[in-house]
Amino acid sequence: MKKGTICIVEDEEDIRDILAVQLKREGYDPVTAATGEEGVTLIREHKPQLVLLDLMLPGMDGLDVCRSVRQDKELRDTPIIMISARGEEADIITGLEMGADDYVTKPFSPRVVISRIKSVLRRGVKSQSETGDLVEYGPVVLDIPRHLAHLSGEALDLTATEYKLLAFLCGRPGWVFTRQQIVDNVKGEDYAVTERSVDVQVVGLRKKLGEAAEYIETVRGVGYRARELN
Ligand code: CA
Repeated sequence: MKKGTICIVEDEEDIRDILAVQLKREGYDPVTAATGEEGVTLIREHKPQLVLLDLMLPGMDGLDVCRSVRQDKELRDTPIIMISARGEEADIITGLEMGADDYVTKPFSPRVVISRIKSVLRRGVKSQSETGDLVEYGPVVLDIPRHLAHLSGEALDLTATEYKLLAFLCGRPGWVFTRQQIVDNVKGEDYAVTERSVDVQVVGLRKKLGEAAEYIETVRGVGYRARELN
């Protein structure tokens, strides 16, 4: 049974082929492009379920492709996973802020890419904290309207900003957020949240979480995420 079309935009033939073979094996229908221009044409034509997008492409690069997809009314909700090389953190950050959903760093195993695809497709469009009043994430339970936080049944004493930060990250497990995205979403009432202060807030939050601190992961050079639960 076909699971849907996935568009691979990648100029390195080997990687393109490996991904296409693996996707086919998993039941997806891969379509491939070697340049950004070709990619945009292909995405418009196929309206794929998801796009795997290399950042470094000759001519129109991955960020241009991402921008063009996000600006297209019909395509803008298409999930995008960026493929990047190590050392391209600045581009990853730009891509995430432009609305890319996730990224993988080369070299990667095709299995990792497949699991990222499945996880991005599972997330759907809406997150928990946008649809409900309760965020349940591992041992953390947040009752948003009542502003209550519990960790393994024990009440957590959080500042308003720590609370919002925790709710934001835990409401979207697995999503990587840049510091700027966190600033935009976590408006501090007790604290002016800036990109630099996000790190301070995370340190404070982790202390209060104790053993559960490991659920809040640092994504080196990029930002933070709540670890994906299995
Ligand atoms: Ca490339």
